[in-house]
Amino acid sequence: MPAGVPSGLWDRVYERVKTELGSAPGCHDFAHTLRVLKNAERIASGETGCDRDAVRFGALLHDVARPEELASGGKLCHAMLGAEKSLRILREEGCGNEEFAAHVSEIVRTHRYRGSLKPATPEARIVYDADKLDSLGAFGVARAFHFAGRIGACLHNTEAEALASESYSSQDSAYREYLVKLRGLPDHLLTDTARKLAAGRAEFMRMFFDRLNAEQEGLV
Ligand code: FE
Repeated sequence: MPAGVPSGLWDRVYERVKTELGSAPGCHDFAHTLRVLKNAERIASGETGCDRDAVRFGALLHDVARPEELASGGKLCHAMLGAEKSLRILREEGCGNEEFAAHVSEIVRTHRYRGSLKPATPEARIVYDADKLDSLGAFGVARAFHFAGRIGACLHNTEAEALASESYSSQDSAYREYLVKLRGLPDHLLTDTARKLAAGRAEFMRMFFDRLNAEQEGLV
């Protein structure tokens, strides 16, 4: 724990986040947060000069305002709201270190990396990458299909059909998500450690969709 942060803080914040995300749907449930936490710890151990406690709390709190974003139909941004909520939770649970709480809040605020809200600290870059890693690999495939199912998208279509379709339409698909967003994601990662971890995950996804296409065509 950083100087001045009580030793029981982690457990209290952990329970708060677990409760907050209790009814969150599959793609962004508490299990996603725990995978991001593991990814973040793994990236942090490969990067020099980062505050590992800030990384851990940032990862734990990064999606804490997902339920509010969902309830607002996407009008509220979970990163912006999550930054305020994180600060409040850390204070309420007795963090007692305003500098640390502000640092963690900033990690949450920038973890989405939209517009000018760039992750500006090593810790923020690690949590951003840790979150993106969960969109790649086997979990990347699983989450893409889960999301497609939730929005009523189709199970599979060809590359041409996928690229011609609109997001959130019945012709949307997990394959479209892969082609449009996930395939290029490794190029947007911010740390060397995450880029190395992403390479194997990206290769697995490529093989999965190649196989899916081959089965669709009756080639295997
Ligand atoms: Fe997330």
